[in-house]
Amino acid sequence: MLLEVQDLVVSYGEVEAVHGVSFRVEEGELVSIIGANGAGKSSILRTLMGLQAPTSGAVRFLGEDVTGEPAHIRARRGIRMVPERARVFPQLTVKENLLMGVYGLRKALPYEERLRWLYGLFPILEERGGQFASTLSGGEQQQLAIARALVSNPKLLLVDEVSMGLMPKLVDQVFSVLQQLNREQGLSILLVEQNALASLQISRRAYILETGRLALEGEARSLLEDPRVREAYLGL
Ligand code: ATP
Repeated sequence: MLLEVQDLVVSYGEVEAVHGVSFRVEEGELVSIIGANGAGKSSILRTLMGLQAPTSGAVRFLGEDVTGEPAHIRARRGIRMVPERARVFPQLTVKENLLMGVYGLRKALPYEERLRWLYGLFPILEERGGQFASTLSGGEQQQLAIARALVSNPKLLLVDEVSMGLMPKLVDQVFSVLQQLNREQGLSILLVEQNALASLQISRRAYILETGRLALEGEARSLLEDPRVREAYLGL
């Protein structure tokens, strides 16, 4: 098992946002957590990355308990996140942003080779390599954030609402890159998304999160046909 989350509770002061959720990601899987605004998706993802301490519950990565570990240690273990709204470093160039993806790693990585591979996936990042990241469009910044997370060749990619604010065409493009990374490179991915249709279409399994609780889970294919999902999440 790659990632195993048990009874995770996340609170902000007195307010409990995530009320005890359990889920798993197996090696090589692409799994989604789908939920509306405020359901607790970002809180879960930030807790998995080590940016938010849980109130209770456990996070295990490759069989080890990482619940209390800070983000930089989890990054060294191979967990990487594409944060909500991309969050690239605006005053660094595109190339410098990419190099931040290997910053602080103990072992030197052959990142030049990795960069060449990433430029194949996202040619715009090579073309704009010397420009400040702030000059990129929203969609290009999302591509940069994904590429930055991939430079270190992670074992698990956490992706927070990558479709938000993107034009439908770009959503398709970004989701197909994620699908390709999963199928061709065997990259394990956990997506949290409001865009139920796009994420179910590329996922193997999914969890539906409603106000901090898991309401449904299953194979993505069956969820796409589930009348409750079709009505509440797909607008069908
Ligand atoms: P969104 O799509 O809007 O990001 P989400 O599903 O990611 O939604 P969270 O951002 O995890 O949801 O928020 C879950 C709940 O926790 C919401 O009610 C939110 O208002 C609350 N919350 C999130 N961050 C904080 C914080 N730093 N302080 C207080 N409450 C917070």
